[in-house]
Amino acid sequence: MELVLSTRNAHKLREFEPLMAPHRVLPLPDEVVLPPETGATFAENAMTKARAAADATGRVAIADDSGIAAAALGGRPGVYSARYAGEHASDEENLTKLLREVPEDGDRRVAYICALAYVEPGGVEHVVEGRCEGTLSHDPRGDGGFGYDPAFVPSDRDDGRTMAELTPEEKDAISHRGRAARVLLEWLERRA
Ligand code: IMP
Repeated sequence: MELVLSTRNAHKLREFEPLMAPHRVLPLPDEVVLPPETGATFAENAMTKARAAADATGRVAIADDSGIAAAALGGRPGVYSARYAGEHASDEENLTKLLREVPEDGDRRVAYICALAYVEPGGVEHVVEGRCEGTLSHDPRGDGGFGYDPAFVPSDRDDGRTMAELTPEEKDAISHRGRAARVLLEWLERRA
């Protein structure tokens, strides 16, 4: 099946291509305008983005809304992860703010969350979620991945490497996005 991925984030497109195999992930056409992310939950935002792409293209669309939740901050930045340090903040600015706000000697537990929505034009809608638990490192390292990856040490591994130090395959095996993609693939399989 061909699935339009409703995002302007090139990193997400690169991650979803292998994750959604054997389905083919298509980039969002340039002319499609994405709605603002005003939802209170990842699921709401993911659904809004997937609906916008399905409506505009007349094709089956998927969309991910994701972010990081810090225990010390009561779950923030959560749905505001992409613009934590301001509307047009860079990944680096967002990460610097998070490392400033989560005390190094305090509760450093974090979780990545991904809601993944699937929308058929004028028809079926479905949303699934994936999570990945971890600890925040105040010594960011690695240049793989994106966003908060240089400071995210996943609990699924015991080698202390950050997400940005893993290979793409290692990240996919444990990431929130990998887990959500596999749940969606199982659901698609059951409907086939
Ligand atoms: P949105 O889903 O487009 O609202 O943005 C998600 C934001 O959460 C990204 O810009 C990153 O800051 C963060 N994020 C989501 N997934 C990941 C990931 O796999 N690694 C690092 N940061 C992520």
